[in-house]
Amino acid sequence: MTQPLPPAPDAPPEFADLVALRRDLHAHPELGFEEHRTAAIVAERLRALGLEVHEGLAGTGVVGTLRAPGGNRAVGLRADMDALAMPEAVGPELRPWASTVPGKMHACGHDGHTVMLLGAAERLAADPPPGTVHFIFQPAEEGRGGAKRMVEEGLFERFPCDMVFGLHNMPGLAPDEMAVVAGPQLASSDSWKVVLRGVGTHGAKPHLGRDPVTALGAFLGGLQSIVGRVVDPLQPAVVSACSVQAGDPRALNVIPDEVQVGGTARAYTPEVRDQLEAEIGRLANGIAAAYGIEADYAFIRRIPPVVNDPAATEVAAAAAAGVAGAMRREFAPSTAGDDFAVFGAEAPGCYVWLGNGPARDGALHHNTGYDFCDAAIPTGVAWWEGVARAALA
Ligand SMILES: [Zn+2]
Ligand SMILES: [Zn+2]
Repeated sequence: MTQPLPPAPDAPPEFADLVALRRDLHAHPELGFEEHRTAAIVAERLRALGLEVHEGLAGTGVVGTLRAPGGNRAVGLRADMDALAMPEAVGPELRPWASTVPGKMHACGHDGHTVMLLGAAERLAADPPPGTVHFIFQPAEEGRGGAKRMVEEGLFERFPCDMVFGLHNMPGLAPDEMAVVAGPQLASSDSWKVVLRGVGTHGAKPHLGRDPVTALGAFLGGLQSIVGRVVDPLQPAVVSACSVQAGDPRALNVIPDEVQVGGTARAYTPEVRDQLEAEIGRLANGIAAAYGIEADYAFIRRIPPVVNDPAATEVAAAAAAGVAGAMRREFAPSTAGDDFAVFGAEAPGCYVWLGNGPARDGALHHNTGYDFCDAAIPTGVAWWEGVARAALA
């Protein structure tokens, strides 16, 4: 940081408890499936409100259940708790709540997500709506598969939900501004790996082997033709090669036996997702055949796209209309992913954005300078409360 950060806007004094907890969580970040301290705080707070508390789902997951007579519908409200394995670039002199754990930081604002849902639990427990509210505190959203594991361990059998909701902070929107949009909001996030197997040989005698490095060049050159020439131009898709391993920089006269390449694939529909899986493999096998070598191909499905259900989106929008300073009903989808998609596949769901204010010092999600904006807490708490009431009405 070359310049001091401008002071972030604060939340009103009645939110001081939640702000203090948010900063405490920020100072003590925990990685996916290691959120023991965070989960213990969450469970203790939910218990103090008189909720049924279930710990240990997906290891560190916590579900708090609030039941009130007069209704038989149930709604799931999901917050994520994990931090990222990266250093925080802003120290305690500028940010007194900076991470105290080297190499770990809340760079995605999940500290804020956790406290906003706790704040809503407090309000709903004080005046429960008829029906059932499940407060789902999920571990390991950042690529470690927390949502999938919660579902595999019976989340929706034990806590059936008629609708499920998620919220993420979004820099660039004002802290009291929300975006609530039906349809695709986040892309699928899958990994692919290709091994091109040739026959290694002396770099001066390529005719005595089968060179996988040259084949890799052709593969990488053809890779972008999948999005450019195969996928419908009106359907967004991304294919990126992000890792290449071949040979040894200390052996520049050796053609290696094999090269490994891998990357990510993103889409917003199941059809395009299937297409990317098939086409990357077709290209790898086709290039291998052309060069007289072999290819191994693996496509690893990580998370499906987040596609907001129209009815759940209307519930979310009705709640936002009552509490947000402004609401956007159109908002460009992000090529990032969120495993809330796994919950949305089990029940009609909606995932909304809540503003995080301007990107201070240009810091966006997963940046070493990022911080959740405490001024967004009042809107987030009020929206969670409102969406629970609207879903159960
Ligand atoms: Zn993130
Ligand atoms: Zn996140």
